[in-house]
Amino acid sequence: MAGKLSIVATPIGNLGDITYRAIQTLTECDVVLAEDTRTTVKLLAHYQIPHKELVSFFEGNEERKINFAITLLDEGKHVVLVSESGTPLISDPGYKLVREAVNRGITVESVPGPTALISALTVSGLPTNAFLFLGFLPKKEAHVKRLFLITRDTLRDIEQLKTVIFYESPFRLLKTLNLVEQVFGEANIVVARELTKIHEEVRKGKVSEIIAHFEKVKPRGELVGLISV
Ligand code: SAM
Repeated sequence: MAGKLSIVATPIGNLGDITYRAIQTLTECDVVLAEDTRTTVKLLAHYQIPHKELVSFFEGNEERKINFAITLLDEGKHVVLVSESGTPLISDPGYKLVREAVNRGITVESVPGPTALISALTVSGLPTNAFLFLGFLPKKEAHVKRLFLITRDTLRDIEQLKTVIFYESPFRLLKTLNLVEQVFGEANIVVARELTKIHEEVRKGKVSEIIAHFEKVKPRGELVGLISV
């Protein structure tokens, strides 16, 4: 029998956010490739999923583990890929594995579920029909500024594109918001923090208001930034 690779989304905080099919798939599969095995062990225990062979699969070992995963799939195994949170491949490893599997004609299926950018967008109150997702912003300020300038010009050219989404660390948020103000002016901003968790917060306002707030209250936790122009 041919093997199968399932891309399984897991919660972005609240453990209740998992689909019935994700639990079924995790129960039935032979091997789980996990970005963070500790998080996955906790998830499997929470849902009383019987012991699974867990293989660590993260950015640093992805290249090496691809061959291993392909061997398992060639042997007919059902392999699941999960990331530490949310949807694998979305600002997380897995794309190269999927590309290799697709090139070899191996079945790849999606078991969809949470992803932080979509949760943030849906509670932001910003236009949702078309949006630009920038993933994690570059580390260097000059590169972020260049990316924002290109983004601003793109948004000017494409009328239906009004919303920009990015992932950012709380430690760099203020610097990034200052660049937003420099490039986009008084744009509307949403910062969606700790979604689905106890300290969930969706803060909305003009960029200067959001900067003033986070100068007073240090940003913490995981967050998604949204810009509307
Ligand atoms: N694969 C994940 C997904 O589907 O969203 C994203 C993984 S990426 C390594 C982690 C980043 O996603 C965080 O730094 C943050 O920007 C965002 N993120 C993840 N969980 C979040 C949450 N509960 N609330 C807000 N942002 C979150």
